[in-house]
Amino acid sequence: MADEPNVPLLDVGRGNAPLRQEMLAAIGEVIDSGRFLYGPDVSALENEIATLSQVDHAIGCASGSDALLLALMALDIGPGDEVIVPSFTFFASVSCIERLGAKPVFVDILPDTFNINHRAIEAAITPATRAIIPVHLFGQCAAIDKICQIGEKHGIAIIEDAAQAIASAYHSRPAGSWGRIGCFSFYPTKNLGGMGDGGMMTTNDPQIADRLRLLSSHGMRPRYHHRALGINSRLDTFQAAVLRVKLKHLPEATVSRQKNATRYRDMLQAADLHKHFTLPKLDPNAYHVWNQYSIRVPDGQRDAVREHLASHGVGSEIYYPVPMHQQECFAHVAVQPGSLPETERAAKEILNLPIFPELQESEQERVVSVLRGFFQGRQKAAA
Ligand SMILES: *Cc1c(COP(=O)(O)O)cnc(C)c1O
Repeated sequence: MADEPNVPLLDVGRGNAPLRQEMLAAIGEVIDSGRFLYGPDVSALENEIATLSQVDHAIGCASGSDALLLALMALDIGPGDEVIVPSFTFFASVSCIERLGAKPVFVDILPDTFNINHRAIEAAITPATRAIIPVHLFGQCAAIDKICQIGEKHGIAIIEDAAQAIASAYHSRPAGSWGRIGCFSFYPTKNLGGMGDGGMMTTNDPQIADRLRLLSSHGMRPRYHHRALGINSRLDTFQAAVLRVKLKHLPEATVSRQKNATRYRDMLQAADLHKHFTLPKLDPNAYHVWNQYSIRVPDGQRDAVREHLASHGVGSEIYYPVPMHQQECFAHVAVQPGSLPETERAAKEILNLPIFPELQESEQERVVSVLRGFFQGRQKAAA
């Protein structure tokens, strides 16, 4: 097997290479225009994302992390406020809360989808709760219909962390169109990945849209008159120009990810590996866009499986090894010991396999055969 080429976890070059000329032309136009901020590509991309997400307003910003921060700022969330969020997520879903002096309240996840357990949300609501941030993890929406119902009942805003879920949907309604504000990321590993950082916020509320725009540009209106304590967070025109080229190809890329996911399922079942692993579960209400293909490896074998894959040239990753409530920087956040068992179990068992759109069938066969080799090796060792 040593002569077989490696299978990377992600190869952004394969997706970008065929678009190189088109992207260079788009970048060239930005250079010639000299409009590096607030150029025409930015507003065009905002309109395109608004259409894709079926919302009235989309506002560019510098990153998915800033989108979340600006969303909380637009709702005036600060000291004394609580925000409900899963602990099994990327840091940015939680850091925005702490940065504004508010308190994150962690809710456990569902073991099958890794998304927030909507049935556990109401028990975490207090008079101080101002928002809920469901994270549509790995490209599959949380039970956002139920979560929005809870928000409405208690008068609490929903901010969707859709960083990993652009073009996904729940009950056929797009991610980012359900809550008060939807937050997207164009980090290079996301389904619509730029060539650096970028983000977008979506909303149907014209006042919130206006507030997000104001806060993302120093709270300044008109020039040098500052109405609010905003920040500097803009999507630059170069990123928007590149993203517009890539957005045209997002539908095919999404279908390729879905095809790869189905192929993994068939291959892993045919190899009898579904007895050793738990394969990803599809919520029948969700249109899954597969930012990640996440299996569970139980019995403390996950790290050994990952090392075996690495030693055979197969890339994998652990999203996420340390839940947020166990991070050093969130050590002061009060959490009942043992109150997040599924979060802690997921962090020990999860393993993410290559699923990018350009991944070849032969490469998936290789991944599955290396995985099979791990268990055959163990059976031999035990005999
Ligand atoms: C990537 C990501 C973010 C942050 O996006 P950036 O553009 O990298 O700042 C936030 N939440 C989740 C769940 C993410 O995966």
